[in-house]
Amino acid sequence: MTAIEKTFERDSGLSVSFEFFPPKTEKMEERLWETVQRLEPMEPSFVSVTYGAGGSTRERTHGTVRRIAQETGLRPAGHLTCVSATKEEVLAVAEDYWQAGVKHIVALRGDPPEGMGAKFEPHPGGFRDSIELVEGLRAHRTDLGKCFEVSVSCYPELHPESRGWEAEIAFLKAKQDAGADRAITQFFFEPEVYLTFLERARAGGVTMPIVPGIMLQPNFNGLKRIAGLCGASLPDWLHELYAGLDEDAETRELVTANVAAELCQKLSDEGVRDFHFYTLNRAGLALSTCHLLGAKPKAAKAA
Ligand code: FAD
Repeated sequence: MTAIEKTFERDSGLSVSFEFFPPKTEKMEERLWETVQRLEPMEPSFVSVTYGAGGSTRERTHGTVRRIAQETGLRPAGHLTCVSATKEEVLAVAEDYWQAGVKHIVALRGDPPEGMGAKFEPHPGGFRDSIELVEGLRAHRTDLGKCFEVSVSCYPELHPESRGWEAEIAFLKAKQDAGADRAITQFFFEPEVYLTFLERARAGGVTMPIVPGIMLQPNFNGLKRIAGLCGASLPDWLHELYAGLDEDAETRELVTANVAAELCQKLSDEGVRDFHFYTLNRAGLALSTCHLLGAKPKAAKAA
């Protein structure tokens, strides 16, 4: 069977979700909104909006999530961190989401205000770590017999602060035991990285879905910087693919979509059905990757 035939064979059981970041300027807001509208026909299982380091985008994140909830048929999730805030302040943000009809939180410890690499010191009145945050969110609003859906992070190549594989998997299991519904991975570029991690997690008793996070960053120099900070590796073949393209944004975009699609295709061949895309607020790359994977808008499937 050819690669193209395989793409069209992939069953419609594929499910996608998209991550956005809160826009800083009016122009960026326009671009995000256009992206949201172009991606909506894909009927993602959810879309999420990141929370700036140290809670710096609190208002913008909330405004973006609320607008998506009010003006689209999408199911938005707000990212929330424990950084520089008391438990009450964090739960007040969660309650605002609840009131706006947003019942899904991506719960994170976050990085210290000094940035990644600095030592994380919990706020004296705050949640100590992501486990406590998950517990706090799951306990919130149980008075109504309901609670938040909670997603958490995980690190298939270990977090820079990791204490080794055993501790890493035990920590992820503790997030599950605290009430997490799913884990979303840090980005990676080799399918084996995810598949080996999945095996380790399952062997360690993690049964919740572990959704691969797929990076759609066409700026390779930017990608190198982020990868260096968060401990994600960039294979040699990726360096070679982008070599000589610093001044050619259009070709870099095509390469990015192809790299992401090939990664997703290989994961799909191994039975992965859910994909979370780090869209960087750009619709084109997410759409072309989905299309190459065989995930189509509902209207197109019906036609
Ligand atoms: P945790 O998973 O709670 O901890 C990070 C690591 O520390 C663990 O993986 C483990 O290696 C180690 N560790 C900590 N405590 C223990 C323990 N008791 N025992 C053993 N090991 C331990 N950042 C933002 O600022 N805003 C965002 O919106 C945002 N969204 C993200 C979304 C995803 C899907 C991912 C993967 C990351 C995101 N980040 C975001 C980055 C994240 O904030 C940083 O990676 C941060 O350093 C860790 O936060 P965490 O919740 O992943 O930490």
